[in-house]
Amino acid sequence: MLKPNQNYAQLKQSYLFHNIALKISDYQSKNPEKKIYRLGIGDVSLPLSDCVINALHEAVEDQAKQSTFHGYMPECGAGFLREAIAAHYRQRGVELAPEEVYISSGASDELGDILDLFDASNAALVIEPAYPAYVDANVIAGRKILHLASGAHNAFLPEPEEADADLIYICSPNNPTGAVFNKEQLKKWVEFANARGAIILFDAAYEAFIEDEALPHSIFEIEGAKTCAIEICSLSKTAGFTGTRLGYTVIPKELTRSGMNLGEMWVRNRTTKTNGVSYILQKGAAAVFTERGQQQIRQNIQVYKQNAKVLTAVFDKLGIWYCGGKNAPYIWIKCPNGMSSWEFFDYLLQEIQVVGTPGEGFGKCGEGFFRFSSFGDTEDTKVAATRIYQLLK
Ligand code: PLP
Repeated sequence: MLKPNQNYAQLKQSYLFHNIALKISDYQSKNPEKKIYRLGIGDVSLPLSDCVINALHEAVEDQAKQSTFHGYMPECGAGFLREAIAAHYRQRGVELAPEEVYISSGASDELGDILDLFDASNAALVIEPAYPAYVDANVIAGRKILHLASGAHNAFLPEPEEADADLIYICSPNNPTGAVFNKEQLKKWVEFANARGAIILFDAAYEAFIEDEALPHSIFEIEGAKTCAIEICSLSKTAGFTGTRLGYTVIPKELTRSGMNLGEMWVRNRTTKTNGVSYILQKGAAAVFTERGQQQIRQNIQVYKQNAKVLTAVFDKLGIWYCGGKNAPYIWIKCPNGMSSWEFFDYLLQEIQVVGTPGEGFGKCGEGFFRFSSFGDTEDTKVAATRIYQLLK
């Protein structure tokens, strides 16, 4: 008799986005004439840049001709894209061989798949509040999860604590808090991981939003990281690829545990479980790493950053505690007047038709906090910011 994976029964129901959708549709059915201002979304709203679109078109044309047609692509990624990404890291002072860069269909896919490299007996440490997939992917794999709560007292950037962690999730810039670890703080985590023989899974999905020159975009800017970290990145937020799908993962050649080389294991995994990412998408992605591509994606990111500025200006005027917004697309505020996350959600929806994301949905220590996203429409963000100010002043 087939036995399904019993760990699925251990997954907690994720009510967050379901509840938000229910509350919005309930409100809209009662108030059909009211417009909703959506500052809750984690998806981008601007289309792909010209550079990417042109490269995608050209790649489609390549597939139409015998002389330029591509069939199966290399499982770990096309050489041209792995080289372009390694060159991009080099500009930041991080030396990588193209073979240390693995092309993926996005960070979500990779955050789940990479767990194949690790035994189920390993414990995963998740810094909370956190992107929910970290916990769920490990629950599905039957792994023990250690929760490390953060809070306003450490600006949502906790230091390592003595814990039996084997896998350590670090997301910087963080979703949902927008907080970013500086080099000294990350160095402590790298030293901790190396001392324990643990591995850091560094989620750099929002690195392109960093504007403060001193902040690290990659964990490999930290000395010692090549012996304890895997970096997972994505073009979703960097270049608007949420619906196009492309990401990359860095596994340094030095990364070994118990005599096994993690990069070699990953090659074996990819060659078994994938036939590579489509040629067309990899061509589109390579355009992001050209000079023109970098200029164009920065223009889009600036639009989101301007949205964030409009919102943080309001929180500054109101004297509301927040982090994020400057080097990240998310602004994480303390709910005013001691309101809970969901009370504040209801209050904003009912009074001014503004929707954000209750912090409690990202872990218990997110209770009393609230996430605003800068990925929304610019005009809507301006109206929402004015409404928030009028309501809370
Ligand atoms: N990691 C974090 C922290 C995210 O917020 C997201 C998406 O919102 C992802 C990974 C997934 O990115 P992708 O679209 O590449 O799957």
